[in-house]
Amino acid sequence: LGRHADDQRPSEFTYNGVRFAQDNLNVFAGLCAVDVPEHVDQMMHALTQLQGDAQVCTRMGAYKPRTNPYSFQGHGAECLPWVFELAGKHGMKVIAMEITHEKHIDEIYTALEKTGHPTGVMLQIGTRNTQNFELLKAVGRQQEFPVLLKRGFGITLEESLNAAEYLASEGNSNVIFCLRGMKTNMGDPHRNFVDFSHVPVVKRLTRMPVCIDPSHSVGTRSRAPDGLLDVFHATAQGVIAGANMVLVDFHPKPSVALVDGPQALHMNELQHFMDDVKIARQAY
Ligand code: PEP
Repeated sequence: LGRHADDQRPSEFTYNGVRFAQDNLNVFAGLCAVDVPEHVDQMMHALTQLQGDAQVCTRMGAYKPRTNPYSFQGHGAECLPWVFELAGKHGMKVIAMEITHEKHIDEIYTALEKTGHPTGVMLQIGTRNTQNFELLKAVGRQQEFPVLLKRGFGITLEESLNAAEYLASEGNSNVIFCLRGMKTNMGDPHRNFVDFSHVPVVKRLTRMPVCIDPSHSVGTRSRAPDGLLDVFHATAQGVIAGANMVLVDFHPKPSVALVDGPQALHMNELQHFMDDVKIARQAY
């Protein structure tokens, strides 16, 4: 992935009509966890209604890695047919979807085949699995789907970048690297210590497009004195630093979201969010 000085290969790929590169920006706004069809439908519909640029990418979590075994674990394969059906209806081109086990690749592939419409999936490897080497190798071996690899929350940047190399070394170099904040014991005001100043660092060290996940970094709806949500501020910082993708949680009713409701933005904040991203990108 370009970690050698003599590797000058281009850093981009196009998947299902959407280009991913170190010189552009895609926003993946959506549900942290898929819950009911009505909410998935509302989310996707809202993305198509945005003034300026309708969005063709979203995030939808079907397999959820939870800290507590008694928490909702995601609907898994069962929800894939209707999620992909709705994605087809709304013209979604790419859905970022976390997988936690190799078998989920087949489940996604099979469900996509059955719906027969042109939606693609970007396989997300979450922060808890950044060093799950067997999963990395399996995901690296498949050539069908691009990969979104989250930075490990408690390991060095170098170790996380090496994890990305596991994907490439097995054959899949369509990889996007995602900064999502670090766990510290410093009493952070946010869920994680926001690490978006590392966007240009990762771009310097590799040729991967770099994603930011302000939702899992900030993890709250806290506001700055200027009235703006910290999630908005963090997003702007990451985009101004050169981020190429934004993964962000929205929900039609955050109070009933099954996972991470407190960090989800409301649907009536979507246009403002997209406008802010656009301004920040112009400032880059
Ligand atoms: C997610 O994006 O749904 C998620 C669980 O993120 P992370 O792996 O960064 O915690």
